[in-house]
Amino acid sequence: MTKKDFWISVLKRLMPTITKANFLTWFQNTGVLEIEKDTLKVGVPSNYLETWLSQKYGIKILQAAQEINPEIKKVEYIVETALMNPGDIRAVDIRPIVAAVNEKKVRKVKNLNEVTMMSGANGEKILSQMMNNRYKLDNFVVGFDNRLPHAASAAVSKVPGGIYNPLYIYGKVGLGKTHLVQAIGNEILRNFPNKIVKYITAERFVSEVVEAIGKRHMQSFKDRYRKVDVFLVDDVQFFARKDSSQQEFFHTFNELYDANKQIVLTSDRAPAELDGLEERLKSRFAMGMVVELLCPDFETRLAILQQKCRESQMIIDSEVLNFVATNVQSNVRELEGVLKQILAETQLFNLVPTIRSAAEVIKRMNKAHQIIGYDIEAKQNFIARSSQDVMKVVSEHFNVTIEQLISEDRHSDLMLPRHVCMYLIKNELGESYEKIGLGFGGRNHTTVMHACNKTAKKLRTDIRLVRDINAIKREMGL
Ligand code: ADP
Ligand code: MG
Repeated sequence: MTKKDFWISVLKRLMPTITKANFLTWFQNTGVLEIEKDTLKVGVPSNYLETWLSQKYGIKILQAAQEINPEIKKVEYIVETALMNPGDIRAVDIRPIVAAVNEKKVRKVKNLNEVTMMSGANGEKILSQMMNNRYKLDNFVVGFDNRLPHAASAAVSKVPGGIYNPLYIYGKVGLGKTHLVQAIGNEILRNFPNKIVKYITAERFVSEVVEAIGKRHMQSFKDRYRKVDVFLVDDVQFFARKDSSQQEFFHTFNELYDANKQIVLTSDRAPAELDGLEERLKSRFAMGMVVELLCPDFETRLAILQQKCRESQMIIDSEVLNFVATNVQSNVRELEGVLKQILAETQLFNLVPTIRSAAEVIKRMNKAHQIIGYDIEAKQNFIARSSQDVMKVVSEHFNVTIEQLISEDRHSDLMLPRHVCMYLIKNELGESYEKIGLGFGGRNHTTVMHACNKTAKKLRTDIRLVRDINAIKREMGL
């Protein structure tokens, strides 16, 4: 691999982690000047870029380079104005890279649409409304309050058109109705690839009826639906007061039901409470199995958060997840929304997610009446001014006591917090090594110096440590 190809590979890895605008600004006309043993020497066209790249993206660049060549231990930035010259072959023009990545994204989306083309019995294809294959029965977390709807969905997926027909799932917004009904569709297609599965929202059904009436295509509309083996209709409360659609739906429902085709319906309320729906429809809806999704309890909320972290391959401290599960009680969608926001912000500011960042998100998104377990105002007004203050913040962050921090115990779980604490007192409060040593049970100043240097060095390569320190600084009010 040439030096230039090497750098292009590094850039391709970096690209998805940096906004497009920043990427274009900071990486244009950069290049590898040399790879010398374990050192990658990157040429940048200006002084300004040198500072930015090394400080802001240093760790990312190192990581990306190491993924391609694990030998590389450090990256040096060298100002080389010649890279700006159009003819300089070392400089990489990143615009084509950006363009290529965008094109790939478009292709991906196209593939996704193709997945939703479902094959029918005689090889024909019908296009179902977007069914998301992210929704599965496996990744639906089962707790005390949703085990019945989940069990019924599993039964229907194994034996469509069996005893649970129709299956009617109801519950408040954001509790997993769409997830379950689409999971049934995905599961049936997996078990019975020849079945025609149709997922549609009632809203969409209504607009199709309206369109069919307008274009006088009613017969082909009817024919299309009568071919379906599994009919999944989301949010049937939307049929309220839509009279022609209700009638059309009634006929479709009856024909499919009489032919033993599986029907699954979801709604935000029980069949009897569907105001504006004909009685005959309500009673049809209640004919099979009616199950309610309830708000998940604390343990289920926590399990859902853990599941979502696993799915997005993020590691979040269990204390933080506990805190979110305690405070966001409304529904699963909001739970997910808060988690996503926490992840986005911690990535943006390069912090490990902490109770503080979680509390701030919950407050800003207004997802709790009152935040339990964290006095956000007091913490926001706090500024660490003494070494005691820093010790307190660091010990809370790492879940150790101040006594342990100061102690002689050389257990590895204590060494890192201790070193970080010394480093922060030195760098943020400017105390002398001697004084810090005294504060840590009379340690020698060279011990402190060693700890500070070690931490500073580690910060150059250890992205997790950078995030910890950033989070702690924020707790310190810096
Ligand atoms: P509804 O259709 O009831 O308004 P959704 O099915 O859209 O709710 O669910 C909202 C979000 O919450 C979805 O991202 C879904 O995956 C998630 N969700 C809901 N319940 C669960 C659960 N028990 N386990 C995992 N994720 C869930
Ligand atoms: Mg829904």
